[in-house]
Amino acid sequence: MSRHDTLLYLDGVSVSFDGFRAINNLSFVLAEGEMRAIIGPNGAGKTTMMDIITGKTRPDEGEVYFKGKIDLTTHDEADIAMLGIGRKFQKPTVFESHTVEDNIALALAGARGVLPTLFRAATQKRENGIKAILDKIRLSHLRDSLAANLSHGQKQWLEIGMLLAQDPKLLLVDEPVAGMTDAETEETARLLREIAEDHSVVVVEHDMGFVRDLGVKVTCLHEGSVLSEGSLDHVSSDQRVIEVYLGR
Ligand code: ADP
Ligand code: MG
Repeated sequence: MSRHDTLLYLDGVSVSFDGFRAINNLSFVLAEGEMRAIIGPNGAGKTTMMDIITGKTRPDEGEVYFKGKIDLTTHDEADIAMLGIGRKFQKPTVFESHTVEDNIALALAGARGVLPTLFRAATQKRENGIKAILDKIRLSHLRDSLAANLSHGQKQWLEIGMLLAQDPKLLLVDEPVAGMTDAETEETARLLREIAEDHSVVVVEHDMGFVRDLGVKVTCLHEGSVLSEGSLDHVSSDQRVIEVYLGR
């Protein structure tokens, strides 16, 4: 496939840690506007793949391109964030001693490089931006609560909101529903589907009910390569996927 009309293009990517090949000749393509779910056993290389995309880890070999022409292997983490790739790690890293609103406001300010002294100057635009994000992440009713008082699931949504404040083109989300209640998990699938209406998204997740709710193409990684790819029904009936992952 030509990389030129892709949003994310990885080809022949490998990386070793102390002689262990965590990523092994990996090829992966995401179309503009697509949401993709990544599954696979622990140690398959899912997080390392995100580390490579975001510049945290340099591949030993292979091509990594964003928007068909930006060679991500020549950029560092800060550059890659500026290019429009936002990442949510597994554990929420919200500012616990700040309110929900201030967490979003700080992320908006950080994204635009506004000086802290100017940042308090409330403008209608800033208020609208905060309100839109709070509505989206289902936390409007908690805007004055301290982040410390949110449930685990709500903290994950707040962090997704902080990511949205940076206005990324592509969101990478690593195991968002781990530790969530069933109701929060279902709500998170709805949230990500809404976000995917105007963003591209790669979401790593083990919860197969959640992956089904996302309703998108699935890639199963194993030993640093793609084992199977396609609809969830296709991938989950693949004998190799059953052997290494689903049938554990
Ligand atoms: P997954 O997210 O699919 O569970 P990871 O990408 O975290 O898997 O890990 C893939 C493999 O690479 C694991 O065996 C892990 O121990 C190893 N690994 C990942 N990052 C590092 C690192 N920075 N140093 C050494 N080994 C690592
Ligand atoms: Mg991982």
